Order: sequence, then C-alpha cells, then structure tokens
Amino acid sequence: MVRILVAEDDAMIVAALRDGLAQEGFAVDCASDGITAVEALAVGTYDLMLLDLGLPRRSGLEILRKLRASDRALPVLIVTARDDLPDRVQGLDAGADDYLVKPFDLDELLARVRALLRRPGHRASPVLRWGPLTLDPSSRRVEHRGRAIALTRREYALLLTLMQRPRSIFSRSQLEESLYGWDTEVDSNAIEVHIHGLRRKLGPAAVRTIRGIGYGLGEQP
Ligand code: CA
Repeated sequence: MVRILVAEDDAMIVAALRDGLAQEGFAVDCASDGITAVEALAVGTYDLMLLDLGLPRRSGLEILRKLRASDRALPVLIVTARDDLPDRVQGLDAGADDYLVKPFDLDELLARVRALLRRPGHRASPVLRWGPLTLDPSSRRVEHRGRAIALTRREYALLLTLMQRPRSIFSRSQLEESLYGWDTEVDSNAIEVHIHGLRRKLGPAAVRTIRGIGYGLGEQP
C-alpha cells in the first residue's frame, strides 16, 4: 500500500486531495500544521509527501530542509500558492522533486504523484500478477483471466495490499491500517465486507481466511 502524507492547512484542499488520492488506492494521512507534519514524518512510513509551503507553526520549506538534512529520499511534491514564487524556487533548491501551483487540476496532481512514485529508486508500480489476476497500479485496472473487474475503492486498495506481498498473511488490523489513514474511523467489520466483495467478484477462493490469524491471497491455480 502506498502511503501519502498531505501537509496542508486548507481544509477544502485537504478534502479534495484525500478523496482523489484515496480513489487511486493510496492511504492518506493529513497534517494541518508544520509540527504535526514533522511528527508524522518521524513516526510514519510514507512513500510520498504533498507539501504546502505556507503552513502554520513550521513552514513547508523548514520541513523540507529538515527532511533532506536527515537524508531521506522521500519524494516531495510542493503544492503552493502562485504568489509564493521565490519560495517555490527555494523549495526546488531545498530538495523538492516537483511542484504544482494552486489552484491545481486534481487529475494533473494525481498524474504527477504517479510519475514520482514510478521514478527509479522509489517504489515503482509494475503490473502485479497472481495466477489469473493482474493489477496495474498506474491505471488501477484489475483483470481476472483477461476480463476487467470493477472494484470499489476499498476493495481495490485491499487487493493492492494483498498483491504487493502475495505470499504473506495479513492480520485484520494490518489490513485496516493499510486501508485508512490514522484519522479515519474504521467500522469493525469493514475488512470482512471488502473481503466478501473481492470473493464475490474474483471467485470464492481468491482470498483465504486463516482462522484466528488473518487473510492472504488464495492458492495460485
Ligand atoms: Ca497554506
């Protein structure tokens, strides 16, 4: 599961980003001020950060410098207001990988996020295969025996997690954590519901339950 940290204090932008990124199957954590963002970076494992330069308590630039000083190669996409041009240049100098000016087009932002995640050295998104199943993270296309399968956002995210480590068994709490950011409420039976959905669409043996332990992909045919 790709995890993205969104450091942004504008609630409307956060809502749009959270939605758009979740549609892609990414797990999203949000930090609405600079100190929260620094704390999240210290404890969380992320694949990418979207960073607003004009953040309360710590500026985006400070966060970026601190991150690069600690030698972390986390891809950073700056999302900032047009009049922050000098900061934007400094941001790139300070080690941002890309930037986008507000107001931005969500599709463009998502395309840039995917591009950053595909870069060498970062977790690439090759097509994942397991028996008759294929999942292409860059297009979110899932096929079963060559036939496209329409999955809900959560089903997709769950299948992505399972297919990234196809021989592993995941506990329910691991799957919950991979599906949701830390500030989203999780229904106690949510995982079961999505597993049921996957089995209905992919066949009852697609996902196996290991009683008392968790879930994994079914035996490869
Ligand atoms: Ca801001």
